[in-house]
Amino acid sequence: MFYLLFGKCRKDLLRREHSFGRPMTLDASPPWDDVQNYIDGGWRTPSGDGQDVVNPATGEAISYVGFSSEDDVNAAVHAGQEAFEAWSETPIEERIQPLFELKQSLEDHQDELAEILVREHGKTFAEAKGELRRGIENVEVACGTPSMMQAGHLPNAAPEIDETAVRKPLGVFTAITPFNFPGMIPLWFLPYAVATGNAFILKPSEQDPVVAQRLFELIDAAGFPDGLVQLVNGSVDTVNALLDHDGIEGVSFVGSTPVAKTIYERAAANGKRVQAQGGAKNHIIVTETADLDFAAKKTVSSACACGGERCLANDVVVVEEGIYDEFASRVIEESKAQTVGYGLDSETDIGALITPEHESRVRDMIATGIDEGAELLLDGRDGAVDGYENGNFLAPTVFGDVAPEMTVAREEIFGPVLGLVPVENVDEAIEVLNRSDFGNAASLFTGSGADARAVRHRADVGNLGVNTGTAAPMAFFHFGGRKASFFGDLHAQGEDMIHFYTDKTIYIERWPSA
Ligand code: NAD
Repeated sequence: MFYLLFGKCRKDLLRREHSFGRPMTLDASPPWDDVQNYIDGGWRTPSGDGQDVVNPATGEAISYVGFSSEDDVNAAVHAGQEAFEAWSETPIEERIQPLFELKQSLEDHQDELAEILVREHGKTFAEAKGELRRGIENVEVACGTPSMMQAGHLPNAAPEIDETAVRKPLGVFTAITPFNFPGMIPLWFLPYAVATGNAFILKPSEQDPVVAQRLFELIDAAGFPDGLVQLVNGSVDTVNALLDHDGIEGVSFVGSTPVAKTIYERAAANGKRVQAQGGAKNHIIVTETADLDFAAKKTVSSACACGGERCLANDVVVVEEGIYDEFASRVIEESKAQTVGYGLDSETDIGALITPEHESRVRDMIATGIDEGAELLLDGRDGAVDGYENGNFLAPTVFGDVAPEMTVAREEIFGPVLGLVPVENVDEAIEVLNRSDFGNAASLFTGSGADARAVRHRADVGNLGVNTGTAAPMAFFHFGGRKASFFGDLHAQGEDMIHFYTDKTIYIERWPSA
């Protein structure tokens, strides 16, 4: 009876029935086998040479990822196009069923996925679990696509004319994602792409691709048709093959600003839809009426959580002069209280940075801050962790008397470094914030509604928190910045994704005898 109802997807439903309620066992202990591509429903080794995947806390190689060639990309796009033909005609209620399965499976495997994430990324276990939670939320929201995808109907739009707008899927989409949230960011896109009727190819960061591999093991068991959801590993050449492929309809990118801009230009020049999220330089404003203890705690966690490797890290802290000294001492106290260590140790607050090269870049930025005249209030460069001598560790660094034009106030650092900028009042604080090239996020700590209103009205950012340290919207709202933090118009997450993954057709109908 069940199969008769859903004729076309019988095989998938069978697979779903078999896997339902039977959690897979994922082995979280490395070394792991080489990372594979998932193409047309099967596991394949990427054709090209690649690089080791390294645990940033130990310096040990824990896996290896090959880079996919143009032929690998062609195979994935071709399989995606074939899968799209039937999937786009599959009733939407059927299309969301594998997402329910995937959501449950992600819940069941959250701890294992988080442990993998810690080992290849360096963040703490709690941060990894938080990241996965945010990813799962997107799967949940995409299950509401039957409501979100409706586009509108107007009877008697003109004499005897009814008009109906419908949203249609477009084909094969890809997402190219960064290293810093390898478990969450793919899920900003994937669930919406398939729920709306498209095929989807993920190209994860080559720096920590194992969690995506595990994610695709769960996807494999979730009941999607072969070729619909695929994984292609690689680096720049793989990305370019995707961007130049005629069979790709649209591209989502998340990563650094220079690459975001290049991707935006190249994908658009090839006639594709594109949304490209770039880097950031976010500000916190602290006013005299703020709860200073709360603000100091949230400021340090905003700047230093995930080792500061977050596009939402607020590391320029703009403080009203009247409370500057008091607030600075609380920030220093809170920063000193952070425990740097291995992400799997439960007492660790700040884990390892992604690579030794990135650690030295952050060290260079600290040196630049000193050279340009910022006051070094707390030096985190001696972040060594006993037992993890090969790890990329830095403790929090706090600069005082930072001027808005200094490099540490203008450029993304992506490390546990924050700078305090004294200002006379909220007007000046807003001016400092708006002078930034970036517009991803900002936060305000205040007890004043008038100050909150002024910042809400005038701050040129995409995500604004009031009395919250990190302005991260829930999955049913869009996530996206402005200025050099974003190239495109429709953002990640929520309803924007439904718009990105569909195009509208209007039916204009007259049936005079009706
Ligand atoms: P990155 O730009 O180096 O890499 C991102 C992706 O692009 C990876 O998959 C990588 O393989 C690919 N890539 C790298 N160089 C490329 C090139 N020249 N041509 C084509 N593809 C290329 O970024 P990252 O270091 O992995 O991530 C950190 C950056 O991402 C930070 O700047 C951070 O602010 C940003 N980020 C932004 C958001 C946001 O929502 N705005 C979210 C997370 C991270």
